Amino acid sequence: MLVETIATLGSHSALQILKGAKDEGFKTLVISLKDRLKLYSRFKFIDDVVEVGSFDELLDNKVQDILKRHNCVFIPHGTLISEQKLEDFERKFEVPVFGNRWIFRWEADRDLKQKLMAEAGLKTPRLFKFPREIDRAVIAKLPGAAGGRGYFVALSYEDFQAKVRELLNKGVLKEEDVDSISIQEYVVGVTIYPHFFYSPLTNEVELLGVDRRYESNVDAIARLPASEQLELKLIPTYRVVGNIPIVLRESLLIDVLEAAERFVEASKKLVSPGIIGPFCLEGICDENGEVYFFEFSARIVAGTNLYINGSPYSYLIYNEPMSMGRRIAREIKLAMQANRLDDILT
Ligand code: AMP
Repeated sequence: MLVETIATLGSHSALQILKGAKDEGFKTLVISLKDRLKLYSRFKFIDDVVEVGSFDELLDNKVQDILKRHNCVFIPHGTLISEQKLEDFERKFEVPVFGNRWIFRWEADRDLKQKLMAEAGLKTPRLFKFPREIDRAVIAKLPGAAGGRGYFVALSYEDFQAKVRELLNKGVLKEEDVDSISIQEYVVGVTIYPHFFYSPLTNEVELLGVDRRYESNVDAIARLPASEQLELKLIPTYRVVGNIPIVLRESLLIDVLEAAERFVEASKKLVSPGIIGPFCLEGICDENGEVYFFEFSARIVAGTNLYINGSPYSYLIYNEPMSMGRRIAREIKLAMQANRLDDILT
């Protein structure tokens, strides 16, 4: 099979993915909504722009035929997970996908997600099945909350009930969703989001960068003096606004890399052929240096956009600027040369 073009949806990390593809010698194509056409046509490394009315049209024959005609490989990112019916994508999308197209559902579904993290033996925050069991600070995650909007912290059962009532009154929460709120122990610590790449060609996990997310309003609350915080009675929320870089103290790298390797093995066991390419384990490091993982992303995360020109970690492996986007394109190139595309595409 010949791969000529790298294609992706126009959002999230599209610029990074397509710049990396161009640097590795591929043609590039972006599927864009009308209001972003102007943005994507600014960049010389984007060869073709396909306009769609909505990202649902990715599965339309018209769009798929264009992708096939260009001999495309499609690179999934966060927008695919949040905006596509993933079962339809698995079955109806006939264009080769970089990565394991069946693993995205495991990211989107809370129970499947938990199962995979347990199989990997990751240390995870305690889950509370019933609000009555709450005996410490917890974070309550509303069903389907995208980007942490509408999450809240509760300190007890009574506090939880009061906040649920408040969110119901405000219309943020629907009555029928109350039972599916997931309640997790709130880990006090520093959030860390390491970006990994697993290569089936070399059977190695590479750490290519780490970021933190800057979230509104939780990261803004700390800028207010305590007296105003108390008076305003703000409920912390976790809508991601942007990403900031971080490097880990070196001793933490062992834990983080071992967790990633266990995750790769667990994914091979539960979602064949396992994770391929980029992924992120979303963690919090507490005061004892213990890292708890509360989430994973089974594809490129937007925090990698910090490192389009490479990161301190990617520089340890590559003596050239190596973004996650470029690393993906490099893997496709190497697989093509080794006649092993079947190992990286689904
Ligand atoms: P998520 O949507 O699960 O990625 O969570 C959004 C944000 O909520 C994270 O980036 C963290 O800041 C915060 N968060 C999630 N889970 C926990 C937890 N168990 N303890 C403390 N903070 C958390």
